[in-house]
Amino acid sequence: MRLFVAIELSEEMKKGLLDVQGQFRRLGVQGNYTRPENLHLTLAFIGEYPEPDKVLEAMASLSFYPMELRLRGLGSFGELWWAGLEERGDLSRLVSQLRRALAQAGIPFDKKKFLPHITLVRKPEYRRASDFSSIKIPETSMEAERLSLMLSTRGKAGMIYTGLGCVEAKPNLG
Ligand code: ATP
Ligand code: MG
Repeated sequence: MRLFVAIELSEEMKKGLLDVQGQFRRLGVQGNYTRPENLHLTLAFIGEYPEPDKVLEAMASLSFYPMELRLRGLGSFGELWWAGLEERGDLSRLVSQLRRALAQAGIPFDKKKFLPHITLVRKPEYRRASDFSSIKIPETSMEAERLSLMLSTRGKAGMIYTGLGCVEAKPNLG
C-alpha cells in the first residue's frame, strides 16, 4: 500500500487554489493540473508499507491543537509547481512530532526537510517568455483540525487518494 499522512483541505482553501490554477491556465500554461479532490498538504510520505493500522496507531499518539493554514507564495520543485503556506512553528513542530512517532514505530518515511506545499501543476508547458508576475494568491486560510492517513492508488484518470482514517486535534480552549 502506498501511504502518506496529509491534511485535507477545506472547500474554501480549494477555491483559493483553483483560482490560482485558473490564473495559470489563462496565462497559457498547459500541464497536469491537480484535480480539486486531490488537493492536499502532505506532512509525511511513507510510500509502500503494508500496515496502515500501525501508522494510525503512531498518529494517535500525537498531541496538537488546531492550527491556521494560510496560503503564501508559489514555488517549484523542477516540473512541479506548488502553492506555499505561511511559515508556522506549530505546523513544523507537528511534522517533527509525527516523524518521531513514525520512526519510533519503525515505519519508513521520506526524510527530506519539510517545506509545506500544495501541488498545483505537474509537467507545466508554457511559452518561455511567459510572465507570471501578475499572479495573485488569494488571501485564503483554513483551520486544520485533523491529520489523515491517505492511500494513493493509480486510477485510469490519474491518482486516487482515499482516506483510511484520521486523528483529531485537541479542542482549542479559549
Ligand atoms: P504521481 O507520483 O503519479 O505524480 P502523486 O505524487 O500525486 O502522483 P504520490 O506519489 O502517491 O502521488 O504522492 C502522494 C503525496 O506524497 C503527494 O503529495 C506527493 O507530492 C508526496 N510525495 C510523493 N513522494 C514523496 C517523497 N519522496 N517525499 C515527499 N513527499 C512525497
Ligand atoms: Mg509522486
